[in-house]
Amino acid sequence: MPTFVRADGRIDIKSLTLAEIEAALTGLGSERFRAVQVYKWLWQRGVSRFDEMTNVARSVRELLEERFYIAFLEVVAVQASIDGTHKFLWATEEGHRIESVMIPDDGRNTLCVSSQAGCAMACTFCLTGDLGLRRHLRPSEIANQPLQVRQRLDAQYRISNIVMMGMGEPLHNLDNLLPALEIYLDEQALNFSHRKITVSTVGLVPQLQKLAESTPVNLAVSLNATTEEQRREVMPITRKYSMQALLDACRELPLKQTKRITFEYVMMAGFNDSLADAQRLVRLMRGIKSKINLIPYNENPARAIKRPADGVVRAFQHHLVAHGLQASVRITRGRDISAACGQLGKADPDAARVEGTSIAAIRIRREGEGYDASRFAFDDIV
Ligand code: SF4
Repeated sequence: MPTFVRADGRIDIKSLTLAEIEAALTGLGSERFRAVQVYKWLWQRGVSRFDEMTNVARSVRELLEERFYIAFLEVVAVQASIDGTHKFLWATEEGHRIESVMIPDDGRNTLCVSSQAGCAMACTFCLTGDLGLRRHLRPSEIANQPLQVRQRLDAQYRISNIVMMGMGEPLHNLDNLLPALEIYLDEQALNFSHRKITVSTVGLVPQLQKLAESTPVNLAVSLNATTEEQRREVMPITRKYSMQALLDACRELPLKQTKRITFEYVMMAGFNDSLADAQRLVRLMRGIKSKINLIPYNENPARAIKRPADGVVRAFQHHLVAHGLQASVRITRGRDISAACGQLGKADPDAARVEGTSIAAIRIRREGEGYDASRFAFDDIV
């Protein structure tokens, strides 16, 4: 497991799992049970100083102070939408901006969490993709998002669900995601049920298999197309893992009886919203325990992509349901504060954007010689 060490030599203790804290403390001559005490103080009480851990012996607290530090994200801004959605803009230690979005809906409060600062996947419809990858978030930074939202919002907004659908591709950062999920799930830490956590991916096939073998959380796959060519147009990762390979892997995943994979389908007018697309989607889902989440595109000035008319979305959904699929339409939330799907990172001052750019223009720009290959680092994805 990677450890994160500050310039002063102290380790980010919140990026360690309980087993790692235990190993570290026993290695320093402390009793094993101290690790559980410390872990609870970090994740259940959310303390910011070791000397607040009043039931931990002073000598252990001093040892902790010497070897470790307690990481928090800096709160840059909190914006509330007229529909109750809250967007949190955070800064990492070195100033990278990331965002989380709390979406209250029908008695549930879903927190959309970021896994990376920026993103390397460059999906053409997504504004976060314009940023490129700044860096992977550490386990502490992924797990601090729900902790710090809990600390800031009233009890009326108690987080009930977590979706890893904020900035970044979670499976590109699997080494840090897995310990963060352990912190989410551990009853001595954040104590979420695996049924309430969903990890979304563009489809990094080996990592998807590893995730499904490692943890029982829900899976979502961002599909957004019904042919290989169409998917390559909006999701360049398709060049690395074809849609066919991805769907075959989904058929084989070791899922529990009750689990279904959610397929997210961003609907873009005139691109992937035809009846022929709906028919192909029905065929593609054969043999997969699936549910489809249709997401009408959130229009924005940086893209010429249009949202399909409501009637088109309904007809598409109707075709899927009539052919035996579970299909829902996601209601757009938080649009007035740029918290809607695909809009995160919009306020990033470094993102150079061209107004009204089409899918083809974005793809050509990204494939052109001006494109920074480090932003598109698929080679490090095995
Ligand atoms: S849709 Fe997700 S994976 Fe694709 S560029 Fe945006 S943040 Fe990255």
